[in-house]
Amino acid sequence: MTLLDTSSTPFFATADGRDLATDATFDVINPSTGQVFAQAPAVTPEQLDGVFAAANRAYRDWKRDDALRRTVLLAAAAAVEGAVGELAPILVAEQGKPLADARGEIFAAGAWLRYFAELDVPREIIRDDAERFEEVYRRPLGVVAAITPWNFPITLAMWKIAPALRAGNTIVVKPSPYTPLTTLALARVLRGVLPDGVLNVVTGPDPLGAALVAHPIPRKVSFTGSTPVGKRVAVTAAEDLKRVTLELGGNDPAIILRDADVEAVAASLFWSAFGNNGQICLAVKRVYAHEDVQPALVEALGELARNARVDDGMAEGAQLGPLNNKPQFERIKGLVSDAVGGGARVVSGGHAIDRPGYFYAPTILDNVDDSFRVVKEEQFGPVLPVMAFRDEEEAIERANNSEYGLTASVWSADAARAAEIASEIDSGQVSINGHGGGVKMHLPFGGHKWSGLGVENGPWGLASFTEIQVISGPSRLP
Ligand code: NAD
Repeated sequence: MTLLDTSSTPFFATADGRDLATDATFDVINPSTGQVFAQAPAVTPEQLDGVFAAANRAYRDWKRDDALRRTVLLAAAAAVEGAVGELAPILVAEQGKPLADARGEIFAAGAWLRYFAELDVPREIIRDDAERFEEVYRRPLGVVAAITPWNFPITLAMWKIAPALRAGNTIVVKPSPYTPLTTLALARVLRGVLPDGVLNVVTGPDPLGAALVAHPIPRKVSFTGSTPVGKRVAVTAAEDLKRVTLELGGNDPAIILRDADVEAVAASLFWSAFGNNGQICLAVKRVYAHEDVQPALVEALGELARNARVDDGMAEGAQLGPLNNKPQFERIKGLVSDAVGGGARVVSGGHAIDRPGYFYAPTILDNVDDSFRVVKEEQFGPVLPVMAFRDEEEAIERANNSEYGLTASVWSADAARAAEIASEIDSGQVSINGHGGGVKMHLPFGGHKWSGLGVENGPWGLASFTEIQVISGPSRLP
């Protein structure tokens, strides 16, 4: 029996370095077939007491040994990379993405662990003279609760796990019920590498997520997911003054200036919108192209969409898999039919693919304006509206006319002019002649407005898993 063809439950939650027994399991569906292919453990809210208590016990020693943390995280990186052959197919089966992308996601997790292992938690000596000693010290917070979505279950978990553990916290991670398995398998791979209780993973249908946030032990909630749920997390966390980092939705604009070379930008723009089937918080979700280049761009994007190979993520050559889940599949169908009903022209796609599972043809829409739902709302799927603008001021205003502000991009032959426009865009990152180029382990990532609160990655992300403590007293000089 392999991990992927069983309907029994080889997957267990990890608490205190061991299997956590559960009375019930829940179904996990392969989006390429629409069929249940595995069971995941349904941890109950009542069981969280024991899980958080284990994380709290582990915190006592883990917070004290900086050198050990560094060594252990490097060993964890090697263990994760060594397990890519096991983890990547599980990720394909539950998430739908092509195997090459799944492997990339696992390797990125290893890289993140290595980066943070090598990053120092800063200690700032403000004064150290014959009279006084003053230091700004960054203490870990304690136990962290981490909650992740279904589009990049491992990447987004690791953006939390690596810095949280490096800073000396312990963590309880809860992946999405749509994609619980790879995170469970990751925790199993790391048993014996990390001390018991340092990394715990629980899965279960909601309201397990809400129960994590409401639990009295965690001192911080690091949440990645939708804006409505993120707001609820913030409200619950506030009652206990838990610290929060919220990485939420986006409706990212790409602005294509009149001097952009359409042939040169089309492929990069296409994959910035359709990578992971558009299920990326920072995917391009709205294109504003100068009216002189918009018609050619629409056709070039349509051609790329028609040629993209959509298939089961395990199929050789698949570039895009299915949508991850039925509600999302239905949502995309609804957004496209709303647009078509409003007069949009379907340049390519515009329909589900006639096969089992949640496959939808990559869709380019023309004749759309900013009042359409497909423009105003985050689609989070393989559909892209391409609109025309007349002058740059108008493009900036329309790009900023959103409750979201995650990332954006400006495309032009004149990089300096594009940079001027970038500074006018209200979002956490703006890329020039590319999209998402600033998503790197050493750069801060976070959204403005309804796209989030706080940042992840780099020294800034590490600092967000600490709290400042001032230590001051008499001189320490001999
Ligand atoms: P979601 O908000 O529905 O769920 C996210 C997680 O929250 C899941 O684990 C879910 O079980 C849990 N959850 C649900 N209700 C909860 C509650 N009341 N309290 C605590 N946790 C709860 O999001 P999703 O559909 O899984 O993911 C898609 C969304 O995530 C999109 O909006 C996307 O833009 C966003 N996202 C943002 C980023 C980013 O870094 N900004 C990255 C990826 C995805």
